[in-house]
Amino acid sequence: MVGSVRPVIVPVHNLGAGGNTPPYWRPPPEGLGHHHAMVNAYFLRPHHRKDTHLDPSVTAWVDSGGFLYIRDKTRLLAGRHGAGRGPRSPGEPGEELVEAILRRQEGFGADYAFTLDYPLHGAMDGEVLNRLRVTARNAALAYQLRTRRSMKLLIVLHYRDASELRALLEMLAVELRERAGLRLDEVDGFAVGGLVPHRGNPAYITERLLEARSALPRGAWLHVLGVASPVNIPLLYAAGGDSMDSKTFIIAAAKRLWYTPPEHYLAGRLPARIEARGSRLKPSEYCTCPACTRFDTLDEMRWDTKALALHNLHVTLEAARLAAQDTINMLKRLAKNNPRITRAVEKLVGARH
Ligand SMILES: [Zn+2]
Repeated sequence: MVGSVRPVIVPVHNLGAGGNTPPYWRPPPEGLGHHHAMVNAYFLRPHHRKDTHLDPSVTAWVDSGGFLYIRDKTRLLAGRHGAGRGPRSPGEPGEELVEAILRRQEGFGADYAFTLDYPLHGAMDGEVLNRLRVTARNAALAYQLRTRRSMKLLIVLHYRDASELRALLEMLAVELRERAGLRLDEVDGFAVGGLVPHRGNPAYITERLLEARSALPRGAWLHVLGVASPVNIPLLYAAGGDSMDSKTFIIAAAKRLWYTPPEHYLAGRLPARIEARGSRLKPSEYCTCPACTRFDTLDEMRWDTKALALHNLHVTLEAARLAAQDTINMLKRLAKNNPRITRAVEKLVGARH
């Protein structure tokens, strides 16, 4: 689909939201020459891409910001709506919002755009079917309203078990046929959402991805939203993820955590993450990235959040490269000292028999 080696890692960039994300698409020493970036429509202004430093060669993946709109019920899309015109009812993304976000994604020049989802997190039992219905309608509506076919639309799915996924896909099939004259196997791809609250539970995430793989049309592109960390990547890939976005490299850097390069934590020589503060470890002895060569010790590096983030992304990409080469071997080595990974691997093995 994207002409890249799978799994495609799509690092989050906090464009429009401030923060310290390094320009990782630039060549070293400033960046890593990685040409995928995930930005959030919630923070974008019209013509934002032209006004900023996001290189035109970057493949832009633009999230809808669904979760942020639900949380912030009164938020209006800046520059699009006058006062008093927001989502039709508080908390529920209305049709105007679907169109406004789609236009923003198109206006930004997105290569991939995610449909406006209605997360299930915090839903009462009686609300679940309605949220699934809104998610299905929003996806079909985006297909109906899109004006630029070169922008791939990935349909965001939310479900907590196989029966919710079945219900969602049934609604989606009807909505897509009625609104856009499309079948499920004719859309550009899908994305599994709602996993962030479960990021510390790899078995849960693995189960949801296996359910998606068995329920979606054969060969459908599958993106995993929000949970790609160096330790999770081989699992997400083995369970069926083609592309995955990652924010953990920025969060870890803000906490002054340095990701250990995979060959060292897989061998059990060092923990997966090391607190930079007070550490005498010499990063260039373990890592060849353009950030690590600039500091004598991790303690010295901890003041430079961008350098830490760049290094952490380098390790994330390295984990993806290893996962692509030999997933089984990497999972075996990860599971050795990590019971949570072991449980997730058991789900994978169970699904193959
Ligand atoms: Zn490094």
